[in-house]
Amino acid sequence: MTAVAQVVPAAVAAPALWRLRELVVGFGELLRSTADEAVIIARGGELLARLIAHDDWLPEDLAQPSPERYQQYLLHCDSEERFSVVSFVWGPGQRTPVHDHRVWGLVGVLRGAELEQGFTRNGLGQILERGPAERLERGAVSAVSPSLGDLHSVANALADAVSISIHVYGANIGAVRRATYDEHGLPKPFVSGYANARVPNIWQPRREP
Ligand code: FE
Repeated sequence: MTAVAQVVPAAVAAPALWRLRELVVGFGELLRSTADEAVIIARGGELLARLIAHDDWLPEDLAQPSPERYQQYLLHCDSEERFSVVSFVWGPGQRTPVHDHRVWGLVGVLRGAELEQGFTRNGLGQILERGPAERLERGAVSAVSPSLGDLHSVANALADAVSISIHVYGANIGAVRRATYDEHGLPKPFVSGYANARVPNIWQPRREP
């Protein structure tokens, strides 16, 4: 019998999931070393920037948009729920309502571009825009948290293409009780959950080149 070599593009044959594993291992070490949110945001932001510098690792099934609404896929959750990693997939023109997080969060753009609008509350409890919307291009990282400013809305900046961002949060974010806000500032409780039933296998040994 002669072995038949199959030529398959590397990204199709094996998404480079070791990149995601490096982020997961890095966050485990970081959170073991400090509880200082500023340090977590700074060093964690560097770990996330390293992950999103390459677009060869996100499995196709966790990059699929839905015509109904933006999708939130769980990529990894720490066994102690100290952090979770999520892909957000935005169809053309899709956006979130104004919402909060209640924990620190890092957002990194992997594909396309996003528009982020921050909000603040005045003394009457009303929700007001906090400065102009910021456009986040591919490779950009931004942060949210109750101390940095926790209210925002996010939209796909592209009207004709999918955008994808990778988020890391300081909890199992799909299970956190938090809120969306209407135009009067009235909170509506929500628990986001996740769109996927399976998480990717980040533990496959890395093949030597
Ligand atoms: Fe958010």
